[in-house]
Amino acid sequence: MSQHFQHDVLVIGSGAAGLTLALTLPSHLRIAVLSKGDLANGSTYWAQGGVAAVLDDTDTVESHVEDTLVAGGGLCKEEAVRFTVEHSREAIQWLIEQGVPFTRDEKHGGEDSGFEFHLTREGGHSHRRIIHAADATGAAIFNTLLAQARQRSNIELLEQHVAVDLITERKLGLPGQRCLGAYVLNRGTGQVDTYAARFTALASGGAAKVYLYTSNPDGACGDGIAMAWRAGCRVGNLEFNQFHPTCLYHPQAKSFLVTEALRGEGALLKLPNGERFMPRFDPRAELAPRDIVARAIDHEMKRLGIDCVYLDISHKPADFITAHFPTVYERCLDFGIDITRQPIPVVPAAHYTCGGVLVDQHGRTDVPGLYAIGETSFTGLHGANRMASNSLLECFVYARSAAADIVGQLEQVAIPTHLPSWDASQVTDSDEDVIIAHNWDELRRFMWDYVGIVRTNKRLQRAQHRVRLLLSEIDEFYSNYKVSRDLIELRNLALVAELMIRSAMLRHESRGLHYTLDYPEQLPEARDTILEPPTYAG
Ligand SMILES: Cc1cc2nc3c(=O)[nH]c(=O)nc-3n(C[C@H](O)[C@H](O)[C@H](O)COP(=O)(O)OP(=O)(O)OC[C@H]3O[C@@H](n4cnc5c(N)ncnc54)[C@H](O)[C@@H]3O)c2cc1C
Repeated sequence: MSQHFQHDVLVIGSGAAGLTLALTLPSHLRIAVLSKGDLANGSTYWAQGGVAAVLDDTDTVESHVEDTLVAGGGLCKEEAVRFTVEHSREAIQWLIEQGVPFTRDEKHGGEDSGFEFHLTREGGHSHRRIIHAADATGAAIFNTLLAQARQRSNIELLEQHVAVDLITERKLGLPGQRCLGAYVLNRGTGQVDTYAARFTALASGGAAKVYLYTSNPDGACGDGIAMAWRAGCRVGNLEFNQFHPTCLYHPQAKSFLVTEALRGEGALLKLPNGERFMPRFDPRAELAPRDIVARAIDHEMKRLGIDCVYLDISHKPADFITAHFPTVYERCLDFGIDITRQPIPVVPAAHYTCGGVLVDQHGRTDVPGLYAIGETSFTGLHGANRMASNSLLECFVYARSAAADIVGQLEQVAIPTHLPSWDASQVTDSDEDVIIAHNWDELRRFMWDYVGIVRTNKRLQRAQHRVRLLLSEIDEFYSNYKVSRDLIELRNLALVAELMIRSAMLRHESRGLHYTLDYPEQLPEARDTILEPPTYAG
């Protein structure tokens, strides 16, 4: 039997954005935080580098704003950038208060040194402003916030709960547009339950899984973007997908990034015949920026029809390699690759979804009562290219802002009652799950080949044709069979793929992460690509 639950706030996602929102809301509110797998399912846990913020006395808000605007290729929304950066210090202060064990700066001494933490510098930043916990910042943040959430009796943490769709007044045929909660598949019982909530927040991460190769964990399927679109929300700039140039290429290695520091220490990129190719693309060769290296690798793979290229650091002394890159060394050895003697097979991998659900400074979407925070949202911060370590910052700043906005509206909104149960009377168990597996593979392959790092009109048209066929097949499947996590994800991923293709087709220029051979120049005026759903709530 499917069940009905009532909460003040339903948070879909247990990463940096979702946990921050839950912990910032007042403790008298009943809050449910969902994760479709275990609670560490999102990208947050895997973030390595850190969080960008203006913390050092020699750094300024202006400088962080300026760096972000430059990285964003003229497309950042300046108010959003300024808002994020101006709130960066207090967001970090809050994380410190929660107990996140950020690495301290030894020159400032131990526990009593106040705000004196070690700051690193990353690509695009003109100052040291990345606060971090060694090279596993995401895990440190996640573990700390989760431990805090576990201590709060008003927060229910629900693993293996997959939000299927949002419930809105419009969908129920009621007057108004408000979001009333969501239908949620409990993977334990196999039932779809009804979660009524005064406020619902999508904190469900990005959509990098739409590509064959990705650095993201399995759940990054754009569920929040797809659910918001179906509920009547606009989405923005979905053509901008950031690719990391070097992900380990091995059938058993899922999503392992080979750090850029290897190239910094002299590793060379080579073709299968041992020939170097980066000097043909950029005078900085292997040290060119991420997007240029990713594009060059993609070009060579397509030109030669090869599955991967090779990153070779074996010319350096073995003890240097093992001392500087212990994690990469160990991980590659697990797959039988000794990097002190052999080159590493690598491919570029989808890393970050810059676009998403259109929101304002409080994370409010077009649908009243529905918020979107973190990677699932489009705030205008990243423009055409995300600057390193701004993404976690965005999670904290917007989650905190959304919490304040919800508090301001509490008195006007009651918990919805009498929501209908999920109707499973017309569906049966699927006897052809092979369709899901096949479509999943096909989608991710053609997105990689046709909507990847280098695009053309023809490739995009091919992709559009294929995704539309897939969507109709998936719709039919969805109407006839019981939902499963795989089916829910495939349905969402195909929809988000279609929106990405449509957005890419609308951009007749090359800017930031969107590069097309048919329009290699940048237009003088920078414009967002905003898509409006047929059911637009505005
Ligand atoms: C390898 C790697 C390294 C990175 N390094 C950095 C870095 O150093 N600095 C930086 O700023 N950024 C970094 N990023 C990006 C950053 O980690 C992410 O943008 C950020 O963590 C996203 O957080 P989030 O809370 O929006 O979503 P996530 O952390 O991805 O969490 C998504 C949550 O939503 C849940 N969910 C999704 N769909 C559903 C559904 N239908 N029903 C229920 N639950 C659902 C998932 O289970 C999960 O709990 C990195 C990313 C990766 C992959």
